Amino acid sequence: MIEINKMTVRYGATAALEDVSVEIARGEAVAVIGPNGSGKSTFLRALGGLVRPASGLIVLDGAPLAARAPRDLARLVAYVPQDTAVLFEFSVREIVAMGRSPYLSTWGFESRDDLAAIDDALTLMDLGDLADRSVLEVSGGERQRAMIARALAQQPAVLLLDEPAANLDLKYQVRLYALLDRLTRTRGLTTIIVSHDLNAVSSCDRLIVLRDGRLHGVGSPSDVLTEHMVEEVYGCRASIDTHPRTRAPRVTLDWEKT
Ligand code: ADP
Repeated sequence: MIEINKMTVRYGATAALEDVSVEIARGEAVAVIGPNGSGKSTFLRALGGLVRPASGLIVLDGAPLAARAPRDLARLVAYVPQDTAVLFEFSVREIVAMGRSPYLSTWGFESRDDLAAIDDALTLMDLGDLADRSVLEVSGGERQRAMIARALAQQPAVLLLDEPAANLDLKYQVRLYALLDRLTRTRGLTTIIVSHDLNAVSSCDRLIVLRDGRLHGVGSPSDVLTEHMVEEVYGCRASIDTHPRTRAPRVTLDWEKT
């Protein structure tokens, strides 16, 4: 679905990503991990077409990403940034409806398909009761869910989420990861998530580890999540064992007192 070949992204003179190559298959759930400033958000922004690599190539669904028209790209890729601040008084439903803009006719009327996609997204994110509330008057976590619902209403082939669970309470964190898992299995959605929560991403198919803008490693959670990796990449200590019920790797940080 996505082939990234020797991608370098610069902001001015500094390279935020250097020579990164990785392939992501259709229907894969992938997480991008690594410390602050390692290039995770830049990686997502490049896949969303929001920053243009200085060199290298991103091939998306058989064609170079840079060659796609914005409307064409928006039907393929939805991006939910970390900062979901909204400045205007839109209702939750209006925000979610914005996800349909790549599909609207010249006149901007919503078709039956548009309305069905909006309702589906509101239901998936459990926002039915909040649909008519102003986004300025809901909690940070509810607004985050509205932004994810907007991306789902876009019905993309690839969903890019930057720290999607950061504002969510425990129930919605668990639900979000379960939902993403279900959408990858049932709808062939490809999801790429940036997260610091190593336990949450241990249910993904593969992890991409970035360090200082370079690809440090990529592999299954059980291969990647090691005590050595946490110490080397994050500079802190952790104990890793197997979760007794899910059998996924379980990461427990050593909360040392200094
Ligand atoms: P992460 O998401 O892993 O924290 P980022 O992709 O946000 O990392 O940032 C990677 C590097 O690029 C950092 O050194 C950061 O300071 C720099 N950077 C990010 N965004 C910009 C920007 N808009 N302008 C200049 N430098 C930036």
